[in-house]
Amino acid sequence: MSMTLTDPTLLRADLHIDGQWLAPAGRPRFAVTDPATGAVVADVVKGNADDARAAIAAADAALPAWRARPAKERSQILRRWHDLIMANLEDLAQLLTAEQGKPIAEARGEIAYGAAFYDWFADEARRIYGDVIPSYAADRRLFAIRQPIGVCAAITPWNFPMAMIPRKAAPALAAGCTMVLKPASATPLSALALAELGARAGLPAGVFNVVPGGAAEVGDVLATHPTVRKLTFTGSTEVGRTLMARASATIKKVSLELGGNAPVIVFDDADLDAAIAGTIATKFRNMGQTCVCANRIYVQAGIHDRFVAALAAAVAAMKVGNGVDDGVNQGPLIDMAAVEKCEAHVSDALAKGARIVTGGARHALGGSYFAPTVLADATEDMLIAAEETFGPVAPVFKFATEAEAVERANATEYGLAAYFFTTDAARIWRVGEALEYGIIGINTGATSYEGAPFGGWKESGIGREGGRTGIEEFLETKYLCMAGIAPLA
Ligand code: NAP
Repeated sequence: MSMTLTDPTLLRADLHIDGQWLAPAGRPRFAVTDPATGAVVADVVKGNADDARAAIAAADAALPAWRARPAKERSQILRRWHDLIMANLEDLAQLLTAEQGKPIAEARGEIAYGAAFYDWFADEARRIYGDVIPSYAADRRLFAIRQPIGVCAAITPWNFPMAMIPRKAAPALAAGCTMVLKPASATPLSALALAELGARAGLPAGVFNVVPGGAAEVGDVLATHPTVRKLTFTGSTEVGRTLMARASATIKKVSLELGGNAPVIVFDDADLDAAIAGTIATKFRNMGQTCVCANRIYVQAGIHDRFVAALAAAVAAMKVGNGVDDGVNQGPLIDMAAVEKCEAHVSDALAKGARIVTGGARHALGGSYFAPTVLADATEDMLIAAEETFGPVAPVFKFATEAEAVERANATEYGLAAYFFTTDAARIWRVGEALEYGIIGINTGATSYEGAPFGGWKESGIGREGGRTGIEEFLETKYLCMAGIAPLA
């Protein structure tokens, strides 16, 4: 194991159900490996369908008492959870980099960002207001109140475990719901460490349960069980589509945070330095394994050659290596399938007329390292234009006019994030309004903030996480109509 934790009890490898850490005798375990070294970090108990059902039963049993707690008490527990995450940030960063591969500085940033959702929703817990509705009859009084939807299931991906889990758990628990989480099999350790800290923060048994395990065994029970009233999923569009169909049998409320195909548009009038810095931030964070990652970089003809040269110089200077080492800003990809996808996209692009400006192949370090890459002369008939590459490959497309750039940027079934760089105020409004995306970065490649709504249009998803509306996803509205109120005698 390549890490040393100040608090080794944060490394949990068992199921977390009803406040207990469980490792049933004879149960298979699965290895969690460090993508940088291939070393086994931990062997985690493989949850199955019965575990999923037991966790749902525990969440159901815990629900009445949790939703009855005054919002202020739920708020205090969430804030303690936030504080404990921040107090253990260094250990959590070691765990995250060991199982996921990202540079340790990015791991620290992700953990602080994730913790901020507990802080934000600790406040929102106390602001779940209802309505007093003007009545249609003299003897009637009308109200609408908002109540927790019930037991929630969450299924999360491997690319940002320390952010994606709090983004779901914090609003759900703030609303008074209880939760069962199935983390990604590549990165269950972050989820289990969060559960440990939640228990220390004072979460009652059964309020937050974690069942690592396979999609078919655990994920399908969560998507279909009648007790689960809400399914919140982050992952690929393909799996989201399946889960939505599975959840339809019991008419669950669903939130889906799915894949993207983000365009970056750099106009001739852009500040070149800002455009380069922003493109690097959105394309190369987490080695390009980000749902809001730039996938297509459109650059106007007048600035194109200068942009490509400056981007290639910045990308060629990136330090690739084990994420725990000083100065490394590009770690390994999550697995060899991710490397093969990058290779397939590059070779398809080259066959269709693209040229490599820097990188373009596996990195000399071997394993799942891929050289940060810039391709020029990209065109829409290439795979790289249509699919999420999910790796450190930046394809540059040339364009002539604003209308053309917007049309090409919108020509995808995805609609999560888009970015553009310009110094023209009128263009900021025109293009900002014309792009069919849920998140728009204007002169920046980094937009995430717990107080802002995060989510996609089109096949990038349903619902929003974070911000003022994030808690709505975990609430039901109830209309109360009270009759028989006689007038003053
Ligand atoms: P994924 O393959 O869709 O897996 C996501 C989660 O779903 C994992 O926990 C996985 O379990 C589980 N799963 C897979 N098949 C399932 C099934 N049939 N039933 C129930 N659960 C199932 O996605 P990923 O590769 O982990 O993550 C990358 C994707 O997530 C990218 O497309 C990225 O754009 C997207 N993403 C979106 C956002 C957003 O906010 N919009 C944020 C981050 C990532 P196992 O791990 O056990 O297979």
